[in-house]
This record gives sequence, structure tokens and C-alpha cells, in this order.
Amino acid sequence: MNEFRYRRASTVDEAIGMAREPNAAFIGGGTNLLDLMKGGVMTPATLIDVSRLPLADITELPDGGVRIGAMALNSDTANHPLIRQRYPLLTQALLAGASPQLRNKATAGGNLLQRTRCYYFYDTGFDRCNKRMPGSGCAAMDGFNRIHAILGASNACIATHPSDMAVALAALRATVRVKGPAGERTIAMQDFHRLPGSTPEHDAILNPGELITAIDLPRTAFAQHACYLKVRDRASYAFALVSVAAALDIRGGIVRDAGLALGGVAHKPWRVPQAEAMLVGRPLDNQSMRAAADAVLQGAQAYKYNQFKIPLAQRSIVRALSVAGGVT
Ligand SMILES: Cc1cc2nc3c(=O)[nH]c(=O)nc-3n(C[C@H](O)[C@H](O)[C@H](O)COP(=O)(O)OP(=O)(O)OC[C@H]3O[C@@H](n4cnc5c(N)ncnc54)[C@H](O)[C@@H]3O)c2cc1C
Ligand code: SF4
Repeated sequence: MNEFRYRRASTVDEAIGMAREPNAAFIGGGTNLLDLMKGGVMTPATLIDVSRLPLADITELPDGGVRIGAMALNSDTANHPLIRQRYPLLTQALLAGASPQLRNKATAGGNLLQRTRCYYFYDTGFDRCNKRMPGSGCAAMDGFNRIHAILGASNACIATHPSDMAVALAALRATVRVKGPAGERTIAMQDFHRLPGSTPEHDAILNPGELITAIDLPRTAFAQHACYLKVRDRASYAFALVSVAAALDIRGGIVRDAGLALGGVAHKPWRVPQAEAMLVGRPLDNQSMRAAADAVLQGAQAYKYNQFKIPLAQRSIVRALSVAGGVT
């Protein structure tokens, strides 16, 4: 591990001020960043500990939505009564991730900004990884790419984003609140992570020194019909090969609104609003679910070892929607 300076921030503004130091990084629970530092993948000169900032509360918003503070632990978020009752999709997604010990340390902000699990990114023995060393190439492209993207990839990077939480938040149309040197702004979850393009070293659209302060969930009518389906190599403690967050508002047998997002398939949670719209205004049936699945997977492109992901994603979408909607 490289030598680094450790500083603990006690206010948001203090943290933002400290982040002006060259090569500084925020650290929340450290469950991802420390592993990357131990492996020499990330080498910050200064660590700014934000885990004690007073941003761990989960509170109801005046419009009926819920705010999750950026320092709320994943386990506290999953088990909070407001989340369990109003956003069971998020509870399911969080409990499908990592292990109880990790969830007891991991923060909401850190979860969104965890890095890809691409093997070639983690192993500095490989000298081609545009995300780790811009301009060096992509070892996954002609390597073992079983876990890699089938949507939105580029010639520079075919990595996927690993967060389960982010997939549920995309389906629930959450917004991320950030504060940085230029002030505060909110970013739709849909737009928070980016596609790799020619600059895969950037996972999200954050500017230097911007701190995630909270995640806002809008009021929804999705609580009764929600399913987070995670398909993986082991039944627990494994990242998603494909995951589906499906949430429906069904009244009088008709789908009134739908939230649908995929994980494990792209550099960001994959949400196609047109596919959601195809489910709305009619009963949920095999025809509408398959049509939505086809729309989500439009343009999918597989690589040598991940061809199975396209049919797996199609079937997983139908399965998750069926469970959410109670279709047998
Ligand atoms: C063995 C293992 C299995 C796992 N399995 C899963 C899984 O199945 N599903 C899943 O979703 N996750 C999984 N994880 C990942 C885990 O969820 C993340 O490591 C965790 O959520 C990161 O949160 P943290 O607070 O520890 O982040 P940190 O490690 O502290 O930080 C991660 C990144 O976020 C930045 N950061 C942290 N907080 C902020 C902030 N407030 N504002 C701006 N930047 C910030 C840091 O600079 C760093 O770049 C697994 C991890 C491990 C080690
Ligand atoms: S897929 Fe992305 S993270 Fe993986 S080796 Fe290629 S450039 Fe690096």
C-alpha cells in the first residue's frame, strides 16, 4: 500500500475543503477503497474520512419521499422501517449484496462509487486496462470476459458496474444529492453513472471534490409489487451476472406505472424508459413482459465468453416482472 495522509472531516464543508489537496480521496466504510489501495490499483495521497459526518439519518421528506443520508450504513438502510415499508425493492437489493459484516460498514455514498469488479482492473499484473491506466488498452476485450457488459460498452472498456443498490435506485427513480466546490446539485440516478466511451477511468459524472451527501427517493406506489432478482454463480456473497429491479403500480388489474432496471450488464444500471412505458396501461401478461424485455435488450452485444448473458437477461426480466406482478 502507498503511503498516504489521513484526515477526518467533521463537517461537509470541511471535507470539501480538504478535497482540494492533490490526489485526495474520500473514504466511507473503506470496504472497496482499502482493497484497491492494498492492491496498488488506487493510490490516493490523502484520505479524507467522511464516515463520521452527520449524514447517516434516514428521514421522511415533506412530499412523502424518503432521504437516505450518504453515511447511512447499507444494513441500517435495508432494515429501516421507512425503506422496508415503502421501498421493499431497495431492501431486497441491499440484502442481496455482499455479506452482513460488509453491509455493517458500507455506506450509501461509497456503495454508489464502488469500482468495477473486472479482474483485469484489480490485478496490476495485467498491463492493459484503460480504467486503471488510461490509454493502455483493455485486456478483457480479448480475454476472459464472462462477467462483462452486453450493453453500452465501448472499444475502450467493457466493464460493468457492480452495485446492487444502484440498480434498485434507478428503477425507483432516485436522485443523488452532491456538494462540491461549486455548490450543491442533484443528479437523477439514471444519469449519475456514465457509459465508458473513450474515458472509462470516470465511473460517474461527479466533478473533482464533489461529495455525495444524500439519496432522495420519490414517493411511489411500487411498495406492493416489487422484486429484485439477482442471478449469480453462488447463492450468496457473489456479484450479479445479471440482476433485475422490477417495481409495478398495479390497480384494478392494470399496470399504472413501472420501474425496471438491470444490473451486471453495463457500465451503469441499465434503464430503458420506453420499455417501462410498454408495460403501462394494460394488464401484465407474457406478451407485455417479453416485449419489455426485448426493448431493454435492444442493441445488446456479447463477447466471447458472455453470450449467455443476453438470454439470461431476457428471461430474468420476465421472471422478475412475473414475481413482482404476481403472474403465475
Ligand atoms: C467480498 C465483497 C463482496 C461484495 N459483494 C457485493 C455485492 O454483491 N453487491 C454490491 O452491491 N456490493 C458488493 N460489495 C461492495 C460493497 O457493497 C462496497 O464495497 C461498499 O458498498 C462500498 O461502500 P464504502 O462505504 O465501504 O465505500 P469506500 O470503500 O469507502 O469508498 C468507495 C469509493 O467511493 C468514494 N466515496 C465514498 N463515500 C463517498 C461520498 N460520500 N462521496 C463521494 N465519494 C465517496 C471513495 O472515494 C471510493 O472511491 C462487496 C464487497 C466485497 C469486499
Ligand atoms: S473492461 Fe474496463 S476495467 Fe476491465 S480491463 Fe477493460 S478497460 Fe479495464
